[in-house]
Amino acid sequence: MIRYEVIIIGAGPAGLSAAIEAAARGLKVVVFDENDKPGGQLFKQIHKFFGAKEHQARERGFRIGERLLAQAVGLGVKVVLGAQVVGIFDNKQITVMIDTQMEYYVGNSIVIATGASENVISFPGWTLPGVIGAGAAQTLMNIYGLRPGSKVLMVGSGNVGVVVGYQLIQAGCQVAAVIDAAAHIGGYGVHAAKIARMGVPFYLSHTIAQAHGTDRVCGATIVEVDQAWQPVPGSEKFLDVDVICLAVGLSPMSQLARLAGCLLQDHPHKGGLVPVCDEYGETTVKDIYAAGDVAGIEEASSAMLQGRIAGNAIACRHGYISRTEFERYHAEYKTSLMQLRGGTFGHDGGEKTQPKHTAEGQPLSQTLLTKGYLDERELTVFPGIPGEAARKQGLVAVLECTQNIPCNPCQDVCPKGCIKVGDKITNLPVMVSSAHCSGCGLCVISCPGQAIFLVNETYADNFAAVSIPYELVPLPVPGSKGMACDRSGAVLAEAEVISVRKNAKSDGTALLTMKVPGQWAMLARFFKPGAALQEG
Ligand SMILES: Cc1cc2nc3c(=O)[nH]c(=O)nc-3n(C[C@H](O)[C@H](O)[C@H](O)COP(=O)(O)OP(=O)(O)OC[C@H]3O[C@@H](n4cnc5c(N)ncnc54)[C@H](O)[C@@H]3O)c2cc1C
Ligand code: SF4
Ligand code: SF4
Repeated sequence: MIRYEVIIIGAGPAGLSAAIEAAARGLKVVVFDENDKPGGQLFKQIHKFFGAKEHQARERGFRIGERLLAQAVGLGVKVVLGAQVVGIFDNKQITVMIDTQMEYYVGNSIVIATGASENVISFPGWTLPGVIGAGAAQTLMNIYGLRPGSKVLMVGSGNVGVVVGYQLIQAGCQVAAVIDAAAHIGGYGVHAAKIARMGVPFYLSHTIAQAHGTDRVCGATIVEVDQAWQPVPGSEKFLDVDVICLAVGLSPMSQLARLAGCLLQDHPHKGGLVPVCDEYGETTVKDIYAAGDVAGIEEASSAMLQGRIAGNAIACRHGYISRTEFERYHAEYKTSLMQLRGGTFGHDGGEKTQPKHTAEGQPLSQTLLTKGYLDERELTVFPGIPGEAARKQGLVAVLECTQNIPCNPCQDVCPKGCIKVGDKITNLPVMVSSAHCSGCGLCVISCPGQAIFLVNETYADNFAAVSIPYELVPLPVPGSKGMACDRSGAVLAEAEVISVRKNAKSDGTALLTMKVPGQWAMLARFFKPGAALQEG
């Protein structure tokens, strides 16, 4: 039996952060993960993350994973991959299956950081090849470089559905629709807006009725549902798709906590059965902690903080840091966690009804919640939208970020102090009218929500210049023509690419500036290369 001071089960953001925290204080730590790549969900995440600098905001998820791993290994943490923990017994003993060998370990403390598993729903045809989970789609695309198909129906409009929808488009798939049985889009509006402007329609109050096909998916029927989520007869629609991607929620993987004798509680707001924990993540079994999605479905940024909180508590329990030092770190991590849990989509523990207003009092955009895009008429009330007078002066940044999400890189990157979020990271970003925007575009390429645009209504007689974030390949070249699309993906007019800029700071996101007829300056938000304007 091999002994470690801390055994961590799961090398996702929660497990690695707990390991870093404990090892940095001098504890001997081992991390087991059943995958052959560490990082948990992070290694599939190619999009930029929300949050603040301390949560590694605007970093792509897989880079956060790489950094955590390097830090952990640098501190002497032993990370064992291909190692599935299959048993957990009294006295904090565990059994681990490594390759085909069963090995036995014992720890002074254990952190269960096993994450979550994807939910599935059943419907006629659901076992056909082509019906896949969103996580599997991400594994295929982002780990193995494979497209899961060509035309996709996404079931579920939460963050996972809209983020994976965007990644499917990046991989070259067409997303035929996103459907959701709920009446509102569940994910962040900025994520939904990214795919809405690429022309993806949202069908809310809809569910999947059937997958068609004999040996693989060759179509899907969707159907409207009433308020009791019952199908409305006669509302069926056929969609020509070859992939049905399910993004219908995650469930905490709390089985090991149950095996360890921890008290579990059914907590719908946290995604299901979760171990009951104190504020340090300690379960009802002394010296067994839970951190990350296993303790309630949240995000990587909160998983990292929960891991740190647990690692810090373990270090204090075993005398590696003083009570004063422990409390100082704990207060810092807890404040950060509380900030992340605030806002419109926050996981602050309570059941939430759909809010009608932002924290600042503006009515939430209903088109954003139901169609995935902001209606121009709803925009003007938000503090990131410069008024007509400012726009007539020249180039302005337009911040189309209208929900209280925990995020502030726009404020951090602006060298001219034009953007203010303030101390509370769920505040809406505000354009500071007294500051002078240089048009550097750093805010556009850094915004994880791709919600910032530069608009120059004085670019040329009758023409405006609009700069957008662009992450598709091949990159359009300057001088090439295409179509300017509005926020719903509808074609407005022909547009010409003025410039395409990328630099080390953009981390793959290009700043594409297009010339559009002047009247479309506040509508044009996407560039479709090469498409011809339809006659009539
Ligand atoms: C599509 C998508 C997009 C997301 N976007 C964001 C985002 O923009 N920002 C953000 O902050 N978060 C995002 N998240 C959420 C984030 O990825 C998760 O909240 C986070 O990864 C949870 O971390 P974790 O460490 O708790 O679990 P995980 O990352 O799931 O890691 C758990 C690890 O434990 C391993 N494991 C489980 N059981 C065992 C066992 N018995 N033995 C050994 N190993 C085991 C698993 O294989 C896994 O590697 C997204 C998630 C998805 C799916
Ligand atoms: S374009 Fe540059 S100067 Fe202008 S708001 Fe954005 S980051 Fe600031
Ligand atoms: S506008 Fe600012 S706060 Fe909103 S998503 Fe972008 S970077 Fe985050």
